Amino acid sequence: MSRIAIMSCQNIKDKMCIGCVTCFKAMQRKDGEFARYKDDIQVVAMCDCGGCPGLAMPKLNLVRHICNQNGVDFDVLHLGTCLVKAAKTSGCPIDVDNLKKMIEDTTGKEVVIGTHNY
Ligand code: SF4
Ligand code: SF4
Repeated sequence: MSRIAIMSCQNIKDKMCIGCVTCFKAMQRKDGEFARYKDDIQVVAMCDCGGCPGLAMPKLNLVRHICNQNGVDFDVLHLGTCLVKAAKTSGCPIDVDNLKKMIEDTTGKEVVIGTHNY
């Protein structure tokens, strides 16, 4: 069982990308960046980036705190396709590669850039 968390773009989640249906579809089909998992996927947490101008690290610290309080943990954090697209095409101030490195250095957890590819 792979335990994952997903971090999304606060501006896009449930506004343009409703209900996170596309990520759940991709998880069920093992499409996109979920193709790497050969075992079952368990979604432990879905959070947003904390909002512009990119409060991702404080938000992630909160998520980890709540996970800890509830006795759950995740192995891999996916930066949602929403966040990646916002950074590449919509003037999002987040440097995705830098954020990945910061999270990996700080938490020791694997970070995957992207989720679905629809
Ligand atoms: S890309 Fe995924 S995480 Fe981001 S808003 Fe869409 S469905 Fe949700
Ligand atoms: S910082 Fe980037 S990912 Fe976060 S809400 Fe703003 S545009 Fe979206």
